[in-house]
Amino acid sequence: MSRAATLLIVEDEPETANLLETYFRAHGYQVFTAPSGEEALSMAQARTIDLIVLDIRLPDMDGFEVFRQLRAHRRTREIPVIFLTEKRERESRLTGLEMGAHDYIPKPFSLQELRARVQNILHRSRAEPAFDGLTGLPGRPLVMEHLREQLERSDWGALLIGLQGLEVFGERYGFVARDDAIRAVGLLLARINQENGDAFFLGHIGEGWFILIGSRHQLNTVARQAIARLRNALPYFYPLQDVEERPPDLPVLQVAAAQVQGTEGPFPNPETVIRHLLERRKAFPS
Ligand code: CA
Repeated sequence: MSRAATLLIVEDEPETANLLETYFRAHGYQVFTAPSGEEALSMAQARTIDLIVLDIRLPDMDGFEVFRQLRAHRRTREIPVIFLTEKRERESRLTGLEMGAHDYIPKPFSLQELRARVQNILHRSRAEPAFDGLTGLPGRPLVMEHLREQLERSDWGALLIGLQGLEVFGERYGFVARDDAIRAVGLLLARINQENGDAFFLGHIGEGWFILIGSRHQLNTVARQAIARLRNALPYFYPLQDVEERPPDLPVLQVAAAQVQGTEGPFPNPETVIRHLLERRKAFPS
C-alpha cells in the first residue's frame, strides 16, 4: 500500500463510531466519521475515500438511501461500501446485496472480522484494471503480459512514447485539459498503428506514457511517424489564446521517446524493459 487507506465510518451511535475510529486508526488507516446520511454524502464528495462503512439506521435517512445517492454521483459511484445491519434484519442484508453493496456485517460484529473484510475489499478494488480507464487501451498488466511473451524471441522492438511536462500543464489548465491531451495522444498513436496495418501492440502504461511493441524491423518507421505527428499535434493541446500570445510562463509540453530491441537483451523480465525505456527517454524540443 503506497498510502494509508481512507475510511469513512457512517454511524450515529457515538460509542460504536468512536470504537471503529480508534480501532482502524490504530491499524494505520486514515478515518473520517459522519453521524448522519447528509454529512456522509457531503464528506464523500469532498474527500478521497477508499471505503465506506455504512450503518443502515441513521437519524435522517436510512443507509440504503445514502448508498443510492452515492451511486448516483460520478465521484462517489465506485466507492466500495460495507453495510452494518441489525442481526435480525435479514431483509436489509438482502436489499443491500441486491443494490450492489460490496459486503454487509451484522451487529454486533467482531472488529477483527470487519477489518478482514475491509482489507479484502480494498485489495480487490486496488487491483489494476486490464484496460486504462482514460484511453481504453490495454493497461500496464496487459503490457507486461505481452512483453513477457516477446522476451523469448529476439526480433521484437518496443517504442516508449509520451508527453513530458504534463504535471505543470495540468496545474495550469486543469486535469480535464490534461486528460484530454493524454486521450488525444492515445488516439493519434492508435491511428498511426492502424495506418501501419495494426502491426504493433499499443498499450498505455500510465499518465502520458504509451508503448508500441512489435517487429524491430518496422520500429524505426513507426517511431519516426509517431514522434513527428505528436510534435505537430502539441499546439492543439493548449488554449488557442496561449498559443497565439505565447506568455513567458507557458508550461512546456514535449514529446519524449525511447526505443529498445530484443537483440539488446537478454532482459530477464518485462519490468527491466520498461525501466530501460524510461531511463533512456529523450525529449524532442518543440
Ligand atoms: Ca445507527
